[in-house]
Amino acid sequence: MSPPLQHINTSPKPPASADVVVIGGGIIGVFTAYYLAKRGLSVALVEKGRIGAEQSSRNWGWCRQQNRDARELPLASKSLDLWEQFAAESGEDTGFHRCGLLYLSNDEAEISRWASWRDFAKTAGVTTHMLSSREAAERGQATGRAWKGGVFSPSDGTADPAKAAPAVAAALIKLGGSVHQNCAARGIETEGGRVSAVVTEAGVIKTKTVVMAGGAWASSFCRQLGIRFPQASIRQSILSVSAVEHRLPDAVVSAGVSATRRNDGRYALAISGRARVDPTGQFLRFAPQFVPMFAKRWRNLRPGGLEAIRSGHETLARWRLDAPTPMERVRILDPKPDPVSIKDTHRRAIELLPQLRDAKITHAWAGYIDSTPDGVPGIGEVPGLPGFILAAGFSGHGFGIGPGAGHLIADLASGGEPIVDPVPYRPERFSGSAWGKVAEF
Ligand SMILES: Cc1cc2nc3c(=O)[nH]c(=O)nc-3n(C[C@H](O)[C@H](O)[C@H](O)COP(=O)(O)OP(=O)(O)OC[C@H]3O[C@@H](n4cnc5c(N)ncnc54)[C@H](O)[C@@H]3O)c2cc1C
Repeated sequence: MSPPLQHINTSPKPPASADVVVIGGGIIGVFTAYYLAKRGLSVALVEKGRIGAEQSSRNWGWCRQQNRDARELPLASKSLDLWEQFAAESGEDTGFHRCGLLYLSNDEAEISRWASWRDFAKTAGVTTHMLSSREAAERGQATGRAWKGGVFSPSDGTADPAKAAPAVAAALIKLGGSVHQNCAARGIETEGGRVSAVVTEAGVIKTKTVVMAGGAWASSFCRQLGIRFPQASIRQSILSVSAVEHRLPDAVVSAGVSATRRNDGRYALAISGRARVDPTGQFLRFAPQFVPMFAKRWRNLRPGGLEAIRSGHETLARWRLDAPTPMERVRILDPKPDPVSIKDTHRRAIELLPQLRDAKITHAWAGYIDSTPDGVPGIGEVPGLPGFILAAGFSGHGFGIGPGAGHLIADLASGGEPIVDPVPYRPERFSGSAWGKVAEF
């Protein structure tokens, strides 16, 4: 079970029409809708379960520029400013703070990759500090160990996944946006080849523009519309432990494990990149495109089980718009944490931070991370279906860049000046044979 998610009250009946309908109340959907509402557009956000209940409340909470792929770095930098700006202008608490992120290593090849990234980041105006062995030992004092080196990225930070998406949805409601939980979008209607309405389980919403921010469900939704969106989801397990008296680093990662302090003093613990692949028909269908990605990450991936088939988010089936869909059968994707991984993570965390020995495990949970073949999200209007904007495939990095991505999607939906160059994210890159370079980190 994951830690309790902040609850917000929303209205059961969606409006008859809206300038923009946003499908999916994860961090991407809520920030998109928030920035649209700030521009004075009427916006309806429909969420099949609860706001933030899937990936957006199940993650580590890292909001980082450190080690970002060049294509995502501009969005990551803008996002850090927007997290702060959002808190100041809305008065809502997402738990964001720039605590800095600490990376420790005993692997010289890894340290030298970080140094190359630092040189590249400098050209983008991002400051990050390489740590000598002595500095790493000082910053990582709580580990009580020697390190060959490390990195500290002072302007990066963390937000609280249990609070962030509900906080943004609350701000959206204050701006007049309409938000609807337990309201699945079943499909899209078109007129003259462009979007004309969204069909939800609670009625039809007339609109000319729809944003599909459905996370791990995006590919199967797109399939209903004849849109091919290669997406794979991998199941990552994570746990939290109770607060300890000692002050440990707020956010630290080593090859073995990561630890992230929550505002209430608990620590979230996970192993970077470690995940299970639950095979599905969709997975097999897109597998050829994912070979380069899996070849890079295979050391940390293990075969999973039948869970993803049972939950149905990757179904190949076509569904009807006048009957319950797989999204109404599974309101919240709540995959089982892998017990082996949880045990291993806990053991490694105590090895890294011995002060955690007395802390109790409070929660253990898992989330499906939705990935694209190149590890960069698909954001943009889908060619051939005017008015349909895809915003999914955040590949394990979407929480931290949520504000920037939401701003960019709102720019595209409203015809505004894009906050960053949208070209690297265009979904049409998935339709050809060129798959782009797999993200480095
Ligand atoms: C264990 C773990 C650790 C992670 N750590 C980090 C991290 O430290 N930093 C980071 O930046 N990222 C991290 N991520 C990734 C990050 O959580 C995701 O990239 C991000 O939350 C994606 O947000 P989203 O809004 O696209 O998707 P989601 O949060 O999955 O939201 C999609 C929503 O759409 C809804 N939906 C789907 N289809 C429909 C429909 N048809 N109608 C209505 N609603 C629908 C779903 O119910 C869901 O609530 C991690 C992920 C996991 C699982």
